[in-house]
Amino acid sequence: MSKKEQRSKLKKQERWLVYPYRLAHHPLCSKFEDHVYRIKGYKVCRGCVNLYSGFLVGIVIVPMLAVFLNINFWIAFVATNVLFLFTPLSVFLHPPRIIKDLTRFLLGIAMVTCLATIIISIVELTKGINGWALAVIFITIAIYVTSRRYFTRLRDRRNEQVCRKCEQFYHPRCEGLVSGIDRAIALESHEKGDAFSEQ
Ligand code: SF4
Repeated sequence: MSKKEQRSKLKKQERWLVYPYRLAHHPLCSKFEDHVYRIKGYKVCRGCVNLYSGFLVGIVIVPMLAVFLNINFWIAFVATNVLFLFTPLSVFLHPPRIIKDLTRFLLGIAMVTCLATIIISIVELTKGINGWALAVIFITIAIYVTSRRYFTRLRDRRNEQVCRKCEQFYHPRCEGLVSGIDRAIALESHEKGDAFSEQ
């Protein structure tokens, strides 16, 4: 391998070290193995992969449906909440992992319909004062913000419960945190512009 190729490979690895989704929103130890996909040997967040896949599909189909079916803000609002409803059901009912993956995919589409709901409501407001359209905007934003906060905290609490039961919990560098420490070192070096710099 030439020096140029070696440099380029190194830069790729460095970039991956500082990539925020590398940690997969979970520690990268065996206890959280079912929360990650392995892609070309790298662990990536399973939830994020499914969520962003849904988001990409939503970006393509939602605007088309909104235009061709002339969807109003009520339909967009109901569609968003129906798609979103699968998330709390999945979180509290603990279905098989494949159902959770599907739920994350639907949540990705719901994020797009959420945006579409707000845009369609704003368009409605430009035609004249419409209290319902205004209410839909506020309710949609409130549901998004509160549910995001709630589910993020819940995930953190559940992660912590797994860690507390783990035999490595009191180890200064447990299997799951080694990657986190490596990433922190990479970030620090990246900011300093030394070995991990992309210069
Ligand atoms: S304490 Fe155990 S479960 Fe938690 S991150 Fe470390 S190795 Fe994983």
